[in-house]
Amino acid sequence: MLDELGISTETLEFIDKEEESLSEVFREIDKNCKMNSLKVLSAFHKYNVSEGFFNSTTGYGYNDFGRDNIEKIFAEVLDGEDALVRSQFISGTHALTVALFAYLRPGDTMLSITGLPYDTLHEVIGIVPNNSSLASFGVKYDQVDLIDDDFDYEGIKEYLKNNKVKLIEIQRSKGYSTRKSLTIDKVEKAIKAIREVDSEVIIMVDNCYCEFVESKTPLIVGADIMVGSLIKNLGGGIAPNGAYIAGKKELVDLAGERLTCPGEGREVGPTLGINKSILQGLFFAPSVVCSAMKTAILTSKVLEDMGYNVEPKYNDCRADIVQNIIFGNEEDLVKYVQGIQAASPIDSNSLPMPWDMPGYEDKVIMAAGAFTQGSSIELSADGPIRAPYIAYQQGGLTYEYGRLGVARAIENLRK
Ligand SMILES: *Cc1c(COP(=O)(O)O)cnc(C)c1O
Repeated sequence: MLDELGISTETLEFIDKEEESLSEVFREIDKNCKMNSLKVLSAFHKYNVSEGFFNSTTGYGYNDFGRDNIEKIFAEVLDGEDALVRSQFISGTHALTVALFAYLRPGDTMLSITGLPYDTLHEVIGIVPNNSSLASFGVKYDQVDLIDDDFDYEGIKEYLKNNKVKLIEIQRSKGYSTRKSLTIDKVEKAIKAIREVDSEVIIMVDNCYCEFVESKTPLIVGADIMVGSLIKNLGGGIAPNGAYIAGKKELVDLAGERLTCPGEGREVGPTLGINKSILQGLFFAPSVVCSAMKTAILTSKVLEDMGYNVEPKYNDCRADIVQNIIFGNEEDLVKYVQGIQAASPIDSNSLPMPWDMPGYEDKVIMAAGAFTQGSSIELSADGPIRAPYIAYQQGGLTYEYGRLGVARAIENLRK
């Protein structure tokens, strides 16, 4: 069977040996999983989840009892007053876009305090010109860059003293950059710094890839609103699509008015039979995130010992489920990503190649042999074809499959 999968016994023995040194790190991950599982289960109990929640609506989607309760449960789990959890969100980018267009008005300024935002937001904001961007509506954009992978606390305060800002965006996960992702402790410090000089500015967190990696959420440390995708962490690999916006009630309501129409807002939105999958996904999510983290940690250890630069290191504090491997050359990057695809449950016989993906500026290679298209809580790896040729790997529905994926990918490198 290993032969058929393209994994040698030497490779597997090497991985087994590396694994032995990870038990302590894995124990910490398990602790976090226990905490988040407790949180999810108690939210299920608080709202008395029952089979009736799995009923569906069609058409306008009025009076969807399950949907309305799902939103309360997400709010509870994320420490928010309220949440909008909808399959009408196409992606994380779409939910972020809805939020930005809901809060920003012509003449307002949006400030990113984590440097350049995620690639797909460039056209949304108007950093890359687009006739439907926020900039085309007269919304201004500015940014304060990170310093040594941490917030520029003084720079942020200085900026806010001199400029009226409507909304601050904090992107925790690194996206396609080489910086570190931002832990909740750092986010908390940044929010404190912001509040010293501005009590009104809306603080919005792009929390993609960060849910359940730590037990604290951005909302508990003072963010006003947070956004993430259901085909990442919180969907647990079960939600078929969708995203969420959670936080202050009035901000969640505003996002509802923008997602559908002013006047109809959150009252509409048919669930078309997915309520059960959303709830089941949330139920599995703490454990799935734990598997994804263990897969990332194993990857980090193994690839570092093979001589590659990795970030984070296996024993670093993690803020998200993303593992960077810095290959330094295109060939190794491509081989590794192709190896991840080859060990996927779906489309294992496809050979990924670099291509021009909509929304991204460089060619990108992606391994995504997933049950759900584009789902990156499932083991996936991708990288823009630009120096220093970094693979961004994330996901792993179970650690055992994640481990086989890593084994197959390093087999490609060793050949
Ligand atoms: C994944 C991600 C997004 C949203 O991406 P989609 O593919 O549109 O869901 C936004 N920001 C960050 C940091 C991400 O990792």
